[in-house]
This record gives sequence, C-alpha cells and structure tokens, in this order.
Amino acid sequence: MFVYLDNSATTKPYNETVEVMTKVLTEDFGNPSSLHTLGIAAEKYVRGARKTFAQSLGASEEEVYFTSCGTESDNTALMGVAQARRRSGNKIITTAVEHPAILEPAKRLESMGFEVEYIGVDKQCHLDMEQLKSAITDDTVLISVMAVNNETGTIMPVEEIVKLRDSLNKNALIHTDAVQAYGKIPMDLRGGFKGVDLLSVSGHKIHGPKGIGGLYIKKGLNVTPFIIGGGQEKHFRSGTENTAGIAGFGKAIEISNNNFEHRIKAMSEAKDFLANGLKAELKDIIFNTPEDSAVSVLNVSFMGTRGEVLLHTLEQDGIFISTGSACSSNKKGQSHVLGAMGLKPKEIEGAIRFSFSEFNTIEEMEYVLEKVKKAVTRFRKLGSFR
Ligand code: PLP
Repeated sequence: MFVYLDNSATTKPYNETVEVMTKVLTEDFGNPSSLHTLGIAAEKYVRGARKTFAQSLGASEEEVYFTSCGTESDNTALMGVAQARRRSGNKIITTAVEHPAILEPAKRLESMGFEVEYIGVDKQCHLDMEQLKSAITDDTVLISVMAVNNETGTIMPVEEIVKLRDSLNKNALIHTDAVQAYGKIPMDLRGGFKGVDLLSVSGHKIHGPKGIGGLYIKKGLNVTPFIIGGGQEKHFRSGTENTAGIAGFGKAIEISNNNFEHRIKAMSEAKDFLANGLKAELKDIIFNTPEDSAVSVLNVSFMGTRGEVLLHTLEQDGIFISTGSACSSNKKGQSHVLGAMGLKPKEIEGAIRFSFSEFNTIEEMEYVLEKVKKAVTRFRKLGSFR
C-alpha cells in the first residue's frame, strides 16, 4: 500500500493542475507582457488566477501578488514593511514557532538594528497572549503571527491578535503566514481575518505546483518591493511571470475552494480515526496537536522511540510521514517548535507528524495504525536503536 501522510511538507498536484500547466508550457507559452496574441493568451491565465486567488480571500485583485513561493511572500512582508516603516518605529513582533521563512528575515532585521520580540507558546503551541499584549508598544511596526503552525496544526488566534493591535497600537501592521492555513481553515479578510494587513500563501500545499506563492497586501499600504526590475505584478514584484505555475495555482485554488467542506470532512475523518486508534492501542504517547487544531496535522510523540527511525521503518511499508518540519532544509536539527513548546528532548526525539489531504481514506488509516503499532512496539522491545 502507498499512503502519503506528509501533506504539510507538500501535496500531490491535482490532475487538473498538471493539465493546465502542460497547456501553458506547450501551447500558451508566451510572455504575458508581449503585445501579440501569444502574450495576450498567457496574460489571460494570470488574470484569471489573480481573480480566483483574490476571491478566495475576500480581497480585490489589486491587493494580491504572485511570488515565487511562500518563503518569498514571508520575506517580502517582513523586509518590505520594515524598510517602508523604519522611521515610524523599530520593533517587530513575531513568535518562537514560526517557519524559518519568517525567523530568518527576523534575524536579519535584528542584525540591521530592529528589536524583534519572539512570543512564546504553551505545550500545545497556543500563543501566550499576555506576552503579546505587553509586547505591543508604540514603537511596534509589525506583528507577524502564522495562522496555523506547520508542525502541530495549532490554529493561532488571528482575530484576537487584530483586536489587541486595534486597542494597543493601531499603526502596527499585522502579517500572517497562512501557508498551512490556506484551504485548511476558513479564511476571509472580510470575516475572521478582517484587519489583517498582509497574508502569505503557497501553491504546493493545496495541490498546486511548487515554486509559486501569493501575497496579499491591503490596499493603500506602503510596502517596499523585495525584487525589483521590469515592473511586473503592478511594479511590486518584478520578474517574468511564472505563467504555468500561476495557472496551476489558480486551478488548485478553484478546486480546493469548491470542495472545501468535502476536503475538511475527509481530512478530519482520517485524522480522528488515526488519533483514536493510536490512543486506544498504544501506551506512552503524547499528542502535541491540540483538540481544536486544523484538520490537516497530527503530531504525536511515541515515547521510547526515535521519530527518524520510525519514519524510515514506515517508509518500508509505503507510508510517508515526517519527523517535524520537512520543508526546511535543516532536516537533522531538532524541532525549534516542539522545543519552544517546552517538550523534553526525549519527547521531541520520538515525535512524528502525520499530515493529511482529502485523498486519505479510513482504509489507509487502518493500515497505518497497524504498521505504526508494530513499529513502535518492536522498537520499544528491542531498545537497540538508542
Ligand atoms: N511557512 C510555512 C508555515 C510553511 O509550512 C512553509 C513550507 O512548508 C513555508 C512558509 C514556505 O513555503 P514555500 O515552500 O512555498 O517556500
């Protein structure tokens, strides 16, 4: 059996994603800036995808930009706001559990003289709202908090963060890295995400292609462009558009949005089945994912095992999982997220992330349960992997 449970690292593109990309690459390959018919045909894909992307967020088309990945969107948000607002203040707030796509630019900004405060979390990755409250000062220019954590699936309280900002410093902008939230929780800039100023997403987490990202910037905000040149993307993000990637991303947004309820149901059934099965059949396990998490992630520490060994054992059975954040190249390092949650080294060592898509079935979960149980029991008995 082949069971892919590493959907937070990346997802399998929809067939329709591949089809539209193939068409763009083989037939409609013109440069969208060209004035001839091939250019116009290419431009149509970009326009269509922009409309779909904007609508999916409750934004307008002039507020959304295509980038080369979620990382670029995150980098642009941090560096672009910091540069544009340098004179208004010197403080940036983020969290200790962000993806490196946020933590690395934050470090860069620290080295450039900005004060960066990293808000902590509890054992299930819930944000310390008291710390956030006291962190917001008159000097704060940006608060960047991810919408869903990539390792635990914990949903961050974006709505409350907006309220705090509104009451403490209206001038501070709010960015959210929504790479793991997009398509997994309802996200509406006119609803629960109202007041968010910048928002990042990525194509390959929602069955789109890799190498394409999106960035929302509220109309009227001054953010310094990160990549400058030929003036594409309304002079905000230069570089000839990745038309195939944009078209594929647009198609993936359309499909995932149209099937939102069905997708959430399938993911949540698979996750609940696996979580309940593990709970019933194995002792000494810790759920690092809270009950109220996004449906896409289940992070479990199997005490007395090593996640990396489990990963490779399960791989032999055709099951693909992750020990933590596999989308960072630092595959060997211990998870900074689980560390910030206060987990002990042994709890981190035995942690596995299962991440789901709408394609996972109960039959697959029965198989995974059986194989996980076997692997964990065997390793605990042998103890020889230590
Ligand atoms: N932010 C989060 C929360 C992620 O999980 C990831 C990738 O896994 C990224 C950003 C980076 O996205 P991309 O791979 O498109 O650069």
